[in-house]
Amino acid sequence: MPGKDFDDYMKRFEQLAAKYVPPKKDWTPVDEAVYGPKDIYRVPEKKAKELQFKAIKYQFKRQYENNQIYHNFCKEHKVTVDDIKTYDDLEKIPLVPDQFFKDYPVGKEFAFWLGSVFTGELPKVTIKGKNPSFDDVINAFNNAGLYISYSSGTSGRHTFISRDKRTWDIVEYSLGKAAISMAYPIWEYDMYGYLLMPNPFKTNVFAGKGIMVFYDLVKDVRAAINREVNTEVIQLTMGAGGGLKAAIAKAAIARMYKKVVNNIISWLEMNEREKNKIVFVGAPWLLYAVMTKLQEDGRTFDFADRGGVITGGGWKIQEDRRVPVAEFRKMVKDTLGINEEYCLDVYAMVESNGIMAHCQEGHYLHIPHSYYHPLVLDEDFKPKGYGEYGQFAFLDSSTYSYPGFIISGDRVRILEHCPVCDRPGPVLEPEVTRVRGAEMRGCAEEVRRMLSTDLGR
Ligand SMILES: [Zn+2]
Repeated sequence: MPGKDFDDYMKRFEQLAAKYVPPKKDWTPVDEAVYGPKDIYRVPEKKAKELQFKAIKYQFKRQYENNQIYHNFCKEHKVTVDDIKTYDDLEKIPLVPDQFFKDYPVGKEFAFWLGSVFTGELPKVTIKGKNPSFDDVINAFNNAGLYISYSSGTSGRHTFISRDKRTWDIVEYSLGKAAISMAYPIWEYDMYGYLLMPNPFKTNVFAGKGIMVFYDLVKDVRAAINREVNTEVIQLTMGAGGGLKAAIAKAAIARMYKKVVNNIISWLEMNEREKNKIVFVGAPWLLYAVMTKLQEDGRTFDFADRGGVITGGGWKIQEDRRVPVAEFRKMVKDTLGINEEYCLDVYAMVESNGIMAHCQEGHYLHIPHSYYHPLVLDEDFKPKGYGEYGQFAFLDSSTYSYPGFIISGDRVRILEHCPVCDRPGPVLEPEVTRVRGAEMRGCAEEVRRMLSTDLGR
């Protein structure tokens, strides 16, 4: 159990992340469950269940009363607020399939759709022009103070999620806290950071935009992609549209990709010379490409005890190949010298604020169970027990602006406890895959496609 040093270490995090935390007098049961615990992955089981029940019940009532679509959905399932009396009743809460957030019309209708799936009071949004594009609409909402982000699948359809400021603040705070608490004691503010993703301030892709908090927690951050990344760029590079325009975009991206790999190697050289502490955050495949190049050139670096790697977004390295997480860690150790215990993966998705993070001891994905209730479903969408494979679903209490009670397209196995470390609460097995039939996507999938058009060579 970490002691005083861990407390000081987390105090530094709380100072740097203070802007994401509402004043304590305004805390709801959700905020108690999210911001209250010092170590989100070490909340004792009984306490976690109490916090979780209060938070989910509170949020279910809010969604039921303030979101007409969800209200009707609950009525169809014959479940009302009064049905949720004890912890065991939580599994009665109707779950929204993730396809719901992809089922949108185009043009001005898209704006109405975004408004209708939003829970609570919408700010005044002004959309210019008769035929606005997706990006025009999203930017108009975001200029009005919202945080709309999306990810896309192989079919080219996006999953759009509307967060209000307080819901967005929770995802930023939780991502930062997840990474930093699990990476103890390697993190410090004076590190040099490399983001293996698009610049968060130039995109609404969740994989990029979601990582704004990195800039609060590390003093010097560079991003792999500094150009604007919008739905049009993604559409072109996801291969949905062919033609000259797509070919030009892909050629430009292939050039950019080579440049990015070389930039990262120069950045490593600079930090080795200056003996800096470094951290990589983002898509594993991009770091994999860098390490492959280093191996081809017969080069290594030595960042032992002064380097960390936080990956996220899925383990597809090429179109038809996944890299085993353990193999990736060994490669990080062999080429960069970074200790395997500081090479950690984070599982997050656009639809949720629940951040699952690897422990150093066993690299299992720990669940923030004070505010988040994980479920594994069978083919009939009925909950299964611990230890069985099935479709991942969750009750996320922390999403104020949309119902965060969702069936995902991911396939997982949940264990009641980590088989390796002593943290309480359930864990996911380290490798999450897609359910058969669900289209391929993931935080980093569109970015991977964007940059890896010639990765296969
Ligand atoms: Zn563990």
